[in-house]
Amino acid sequence: MADGSEKTLFQKIADGDLPADLVYEDDRAVAFRDIAPQAPTHVLVVPRKPIPRADAIEEADEALVGHLFTVARRVAEAEGLTDYRLVVNNGEGAGQTVFHLHVHLLGGRGLQWPPG
Ligand code: AMP
Repeated sequence: MADGSEKTLFQKIADGDLPADLVYEDDRAVAFRDIAPQAPTHVLVVPRKPIPRADAIEEADEALVGHLFTVARRVAEAEGLTDYRLVVNNGEGAGQTVFHLHVHLLGGRGLQWPPG
C-alpha cells in the first residue's frame, strides 16, 4: 500500500491477490466462504475498507456497516436461508483471529444459544 503498511488477509482476498470462494462482491464489500466452515453455510461478509475490529468503527463508517447487513441478507436469501446467525468477534478473547472487520453468516443447521 502507498503508506507501506501490509494489506490484511481479507484485503488481499478482496483485491483478488489471494483466492477465495466469492459469493458476492460490490464496490464496498465482498463475501466469501469461510475456509473452515462451522455450518453448512458459513460466509464472511467483509468491507473493502480495512477496519480492524468492531470497536474501531467510526461514525463515518455507519452506512458501510449497515451495508454489510444488507449483503448478509442477500447472501442468506441466495443460500435459501430464512434462519441464520450473524456474528462479529471483537478481540482475541472473543475469538477474533483476522483483524479486518467481518460478519460471519452461519446457517443451514440448528444453532444453539448461548454460543461458546
Ligand atoms: P474471526 O476468528 O472472527 O476473526 O474469523 C476469521 C475467520 O476467517 C475464521 O472463521 C477463519 O476460518 C477464516 N479464514 C481465515 N483465513 C481464511 C481464508 N484464506 N479464506 C477464507 N476464510 C478464512
